[in-house]
Amino acid sequence: MITQTPRPEEILAKVFGFESFRGLQGEVCHHLIGGGEALVLMPTGGGKSLCYQLPALALEGVALVVSPLIALMRDQVEALKELGVAAGYLNSSLEPSEARQVEEDFLAGRLKLLYIAPERLFTDRFFPLLRQVRLSLFAIDEAHCVSKWGHDFRPEYLKLERLMAQFPDVPKIALTATADPATQAEIQARLGLGGAQVFISSFDRPNLFYRIELKQNPKRRLLDFIQGEHAGQSGIVYCLSRKKTEETAEWLEREGVKAVPYHAGLDQRVRNHHQDRFGKEEGLVVCATVAFGMGIDKPDIRFVAHLDLPKNLEAFYQETGRAGRDGLPADCLLLYGVNDFVTQERFFDNPDAAPEFRAAELSRRQAFWGFLESSACRREGLLGYFGESYQGPCGRCDRCLEPIASLPESQTLAQKALSNVFRTGQRYGLGHLSQVLVGVQNPKLRQAGHERISTFGIGKELNADGWKAVYRQLLAQGLVGVDPEKGGLFLKGPAKEVLKGERPVSLNAARERSKDRPDRPERAPRKGPAPFTRDDSGELFEQLRQLRAEIAGQKDLPHYIIFNDKSLWEMAEYRPQSLVELGRIYGVGEVKLEHYGDDFLGVIRAFA
Ligand code: ADP
Ligand code: ZN
Repeated sequence: MITQTPRPEEILAKVFGFESFRGLQGEVCHHLIGGGEALVLMPTGGGKSLCYQLPALALEGVALVVSPLIALMRDQVEALKELGVAAGYLNSSLEPSEARQVEEDFLAGRLKLLYIAPERLFTDRFFPLLRQVRLSLFAIDEAHCVSKWGHDFRPEYLKLERLMAQFPDVPKIALTATADPATQAEIQARLGLGGAQVFISSFDRPNLFYRIELKQNPKRRLLDFIQGEHAGQSGIVYCLSRKKTEETAEWLEREGVKAVPYHAGLDQRVRNHHQDRFGKEEGLVVCATVAFGMGIDKPDIRFVAHLDLPKNLEAFYQETGRAGRDGLPADCLLLYGVNDFVTQERFFDNPDAAPEFRAAELSRRQAFWGFLESSACRREGLLGYFGESYQGPCGRCDRCLEPIASLPESQTLAQKALSNVFRTGQRYGLGHLSQVLVGVQNPKLRQAGHERISTFGIGKELNADGWKAVYRQLLAQGLVGVDPEKGGLFLKGPAKEVLKGERPVSLNAARERSKDRPDRPERAPRKGPAPFTRDDSGELFEQLRQLRAEIAGQKDLPHYIIFNDKSLWEMAEYRPQSLVELGRIYGVGEVKLEHYGDDFLGVIRAFA
């Protein structure tokens, strides 16, 4: 346990086992320790917890951490205890006797951090206790829960302003991974943090590799992706419908991949069980709807795959953001086809909503489609959407690795496609429209009289798939819209100007995945979470993982609380030979060194 108050840099190394602060962490810590107020916006995996955990250790008294994520409190507290930090939590999952014990420890000043659910904080039983202890700071985690317009609104969060106003001298910090400026302003206003210094990190997740591909036999593609690049690793597969999550999980199981479904329609017990397994087991794939989301803080999720389009770019960012919190490489794969655009309209457009709301949602979808179809670096498009100016190429996305060309004669192609929509009466879907342009003979076209119209057969320079790609891009550019019920396309926005040649259009060539060339030839199946420089490091990693699993099993803790993959990866790579050397490995602080050092050194030595 820590008794005096050393410098933040020392605490970082000794307690957490980290070499240096990440991004703005150092500045935030110094600001808080100096008595300041802070609002911190950092992406998932950016290292928000350290921003209050470390000051809590440097300051006198106990820090109160308000978090709505009951399921995570235990893990966070256990992780702190493993680091030798006195921490506790209070929420509805505790037995009354357990809760009483925590309250006693709190009152006696035996804790450095107390995590508390907002419901609990404002009870008549607990609230008065705050006056009886010395508080070091208030940390409001998931601060966007105060936003009335967000998805995660918690009414109890609105009471926090009053609470904080009652303790003007206690330093305060609010944290969130939600980036948009409107939410930020709302947090400051509603929490009374108008005077707080705002710390905004880049929202780039440098260790994530983005790939977005057209759907061609998506299940097979998913299986190749998992077996070829992520065998034995944990991942999430997002699907739009509940049924599809179940089918996909069953199918993966049959193909030998450990997988379970997760969606809001499952029995609560089953759902909790699957989420629990995901936290504790290694190498489990969860096939889920968006119901699987907030509160997943497993650090070693090595991939997130989307078999359907997420709602918009924010959703895509949040969902993929769950991968690779530990900073090791992780993959994001999104598969989509033109039908997904239509499905999105059907699924996400609500005709009963206010017109402004519908229009705003549509423009967000459109921005997303534009991102999918754009030839620019994915990272550039993604960060650009959040207002960050990032200059590609990033070298870690499909566009950077395999650039796509723009189509020659884009203007003419767009005109043909648009005029075809007009000639056929603005009510046919993509498949039909593409067939008309290519000049396919079939009864359906004949019956509709489309063999006799002027656009029949005028598009032989592309095949039907090529035309579908053109229509997809026209949709993405807002030049055509789609009827969510029937899937028919209609002209929209400045389509007329394009037809008249008054407005330029540029289109990209579709990139087809070649059958005999793997997508990422440089990536053979590998043993560890990241490439090793030595041939046998994968084997040593495996042995270290075994040891970790044994310890985690004995303690009934998730494996990553003992050491996360990055620590094991470094041990396997650098092979420390003494406790001093082991202490320099990522995530090995003094207490873990004392508890587990000899065991892990034993495995490393025996391996040599
Ligand atoms: P967030 O809450 O922002 O999603 P976490 O606080 O869970 O992120 O941190 C993500 C991961 O980064 C954790 O595994 C954590 O141990 C690690 N981490 C945090 N700060 C540092 C640092 N300064 N150096 C190395 N690793 C860090
Ligand atoms: Zn890129």
